[in-house]
Amino acid sequence: MQGSGRIAIDGPAGSGKSTVGEQLARHLEYLYIDTGAMYRALAWLAGHEGIDVNDGAALGTLAQHAEIEIKRPMIADGRQYTVTVRGRDVTWDIRSSGVTRAVSPVSAHPEVRSVLIARQRAMAQEGCVVMVGRDIGAVVLPDAELKIYLMASLQERARRRHAELLERLGEHNPTLPSLSEVADDIRRRDGIDHDNMQPAQDAIVIETDTLSVQQVLETIYTYVEDTDETGTQS
Ligand code: C5P
Repeated sequence: MQGSGRIAIDGPAGSGKSTVGEQLARHLEYLYIDTGAMYRALAWLAGHEGIDVNDGAALGTLAQHAEIEIKRPMIADGRQYTVTVRGRDVTWDIRSSGVTRAVSPVSAHPEVRSVLIARQRAMAQEGCVVMVGRDIGAVVLPDAELKIYLMASLQERARRRHAELLERLGEHNPTLPSLSEVADDIRRRDGIDHDNMQPAQDAIVIETDTLSVQQVLETIYTYVEDTDETGTQS
């Protein structure tokens, strides 16, 4: 797939979609867009402005004026990209436990989704994009040339997410959650996200429990090679 491809990668928290999506985009020299970061940025702004996570109308209005930007990384501190809200760098703030708690209720409002989905479609318009999220193949880009849905057990997803936090925060950091706290958080988010997290009917589902990142990527490369520019799989 050369030229105008749009690749959707969906899956629940900890399924590996960000790691895989970023590496796939780098390999293909495509733009990488993590839509979860947009919902997180909005949840961060709502907290900053004191807006209730249950107030869909206010959050929808906030989304229209949030000025959320995802750019290529500007600092080499382990980030995949830089996220700004009204010009302020919130790349790491949006990973806090407060934002992680608030993001699913914020994202559940149709008023929020319609605004962010329209922005995501506009961002993908130029093509050459790997877009990662929950509903990209089914809702945001239903005509994407390739749709991947990554799955993994709750236990494995919690283990991966905990290992990431351990590496970033360090073993002695008081804000480091325990493995069971991470698992509880993922279970809770799975429950709230469920309605907006369905694989597209034509998605290729990959079970990643027993696969390394490299193995998942190699599986995806075979589909990329088999998909021509019209999006037809040979
Ligand atoms: O991918 P990540 O875990 O960072 O996403 C954070 C949250 O954003 C998800 O738990 C979900 O509530 C929301 N989200 C969404 N639709 C997307 C991407 C993320 O509702 N396309």
